[in-house]
Amino acid sequence: MATIYESIGVPTIINAKGPSTRVSGGILPAEVAAAMHDASQHCVDMAALQGRASEIIAEITGAEAGLVTAGAAAGLLLGTAACVTGLDPGKMNRLPMTRGMKNRVIVPRSHRNFYDHAVRAVGVELVEVGIADRFSGAGVRDTEAWEIDDAIDEATAAILYVAQPFALPPLPAVVQVAHRRGVPVIVDAAAQLPPVDNLRRFTTEGADLVAFSGGKAITGPQASGILCGRRDLIAAAALQNLDLDVHYDQWDPPPSLIDKSKLVGLPQHGIGRSCKVGKEEVVGLLTALRLFVDGGMEARQVECRALADELYQGLRGLAGASAAPLADCSRPGIPGVSLAPSTMEAGELICRLQAGSPPVYADPSRAHEGMVRFDTMCLRPGDPAIIVRGAKAALAE
Ligand SMILES: *Cc1c(COP(=O)(O)O)cnc(C)c1O
Repeated sequence: MATIYESIGVPTIINAKGPSTRVSGGILPAEVAAAMHDASQHCVDMAALQGRASEIIAEITGAEAGLVTAGAAAGLLLGTAACVTGLDPGKMNRLPMTRGMKNRVIVPRSHRNFYDHAVRAVGVELVEVGIADRFSGAGVRDTEAWEIDDAIDEATAAILYVAQPFALPPLPAVVQVAHRRGVPVIVDAAAQLPPVDNLRRFTTEGADLVAFSGGKAITGPQASGILCGRRDLIAAAALQNLDLDVHYDQWDPPPSLIDKSKLVGLPQHGIGRSCKVGKEEVVGLLTALRLFVDGGMEARQVECRALADELYQGLRGLAGASAAPLADCSRPGIPGVSLAPSTMEAGELICRLQAGSPPVYADPSRAHEGMVRFDTMCLRPGDPAIIVRGAKAALAE
């Protein structure tokens, strides 16, 4: 059967990169796609839907409240806006002009990354703290918690912390200094799943807001995510994301999302209105999240092991390259295979694979070490054989 992509003349690709935005994320479980279709056939009050989403996300993450966002980056933008404005509708209306507001966000220098544009988009200045002197080879230190404490002043809106297994300083130490000074901590945990436990971990460690991607390991819609955390901050985030073309008196948001009695009035369209999320994404994310925590992740890990095995068996005999199995590729517990070509640069092999038919998109993150990596998270049954065929042709060219 022809795919929708064939019918509009766009080639489908083999995604051995993992769930990245530029390769369209991953494959939705059938149950998630069906839930999104069902959601699309009815209308609902979006505040009511996000209110129920808040309860479900709270139950699963252990946070006070939650919001389905248009991705983790959208969550960072909304969460930052919430920390700057609180529940003040006047401030919400003025963003991204932040004069006179708390408009600085402190970040350990080693945590800087391209996604923090979503934080800066709110109109705040990122204040980098510390030096990752580990990089020098002689140094042993990264940013330390006391340096964050030292940088906090009356204009500090939040601390941005990018979670990684190797991130320093430890999150609990950052939370301790931040909370002593009354400053919230926003954790970018976009790609920190699996392990499933990480859905609760950063909240347990004291984070005020945590952003996850819905389109990565959760296998929700590609343009979905979760922002979970303190009830007042989630309410402020929701207010800056929803369509508020409504009179205060005629609007009755669910208390699980927004306590209307705390508002002097309704803001206009907020800075987060441009990262709106549809009912289909909200339902798709909630369905995928439930599957993810109810054993879906473990089941996918088993499937990925079989795919990785098949791929390794096919690649290991190829002339002109040596293959090695990878226990953890793009994620812990998601295996892959690395292929080191001996007759060309790894970057050249990546280009040839992408130019093949069908195009194979591999993980280029270790190309500088001479390795092309194939991740299994987004592969479909049958894909390993196609990759082997593509690699054989590319190496023989
Ligand atoms: C993927 C990622 C994001 C963005 O997530 P989206 O859901 O695509 O918006 C942000 N931060 C980090 C560290 C990521 O890995």
